[in-house]
Amino acid sequence: MGDEFIVETRSLTKEFKGFVAVSDVNLRVRRHTIHALIGPNGAGKTTCFNLVTKFLTPTKGQILFNGTDITHTQPAAIARHGMVRSFQISAVFGHLTVLENVRVALQRKQGKSFQFWRSGECLNELNTRAEELIEAVGVAEYRDTPAGELSYGRKRALEIATTLALDPEMLLLDEPMAGMGAEDVRRTADLIRRVSANRTILMVEHNLSVVADLSDTITVLKLGRVLAEGSYAEISDNPEVVEAYMGS
Ligand code: ADP
Repeated sequence: MGDEFIVETRSLTKEFKGFVAVSDVNLRVRRHTIHALIGPNGAGKTTCFNLVTKFLTPTKGQILFNGTDITHTQPAAIARHGMVRSFQISAVFGHLTVLENVRVALQRKQGKSFQFWRSGECLNELNTRAEELIEAVGVAEYRDTPAGELSYGRKRALEIATTLALDPEMLLLDEPMAGMGAEDVRRTADLIRRVSANRTILMVEHNLSVVADLSDTITVLKLGRVLAEGSYAEISDNPEVVEAYMGS
């Protein structure tokens, strides 16, 4: 299992004061794929996502990452294992420039001392890597712009760059397209596709055309349970899935 699937949940269940928000979910995320969690409002997507990223503790069940049981691991330790959640962990500092934001993230990853980073050689290396990352996410032309002045879509691209600075094996994206216009959605979809080349991505996303376009596998949740799973063609052919969406 450890090789084919990077994440596996077993009977994952979360109750809130007796209300079962996520019920016996067995999720398997294949390595180096884009996997989307979808479902009508209240389906348990956010709860499921929060369980996998350890923001919530399950009432029952297990979460395996690379074959290791991480059910009781702290969120910070998960990042060290190589699973990083974007848009929450990666704070963008508005008063720092685009390049500085990525440098801060890189320094955080290295965890080296201030003295270490003062040596010229290391600074060069740091700058080169930071430049590569801002280029990769398409914000290089804003290198010296304070992050607070970026458009919403570009700020989120910068957030992805700060997340990539941590060199994650797996990236978890919580509604990456939320609040974006068509142009930013297109740019972000391109970015996610590029970033997924050598990583695994798990995302919760409402925009179904984005989900259709990007996802290798889609898990549809309804009332806390897995209703269907498969490619977009497979799930969109499923009458239960169609009904779940029509009914919401
Ligand atoms: P989705 O993200 O699919 O819209 P959620 O995971 O946010 O669904 O919620 C699933 C269900 O669990 C909903 O009925 C919601 O009201 C309930 N729920 C979520 N979080 C809590 C909480 N902290 N306390 C009580 N109920 C919650």
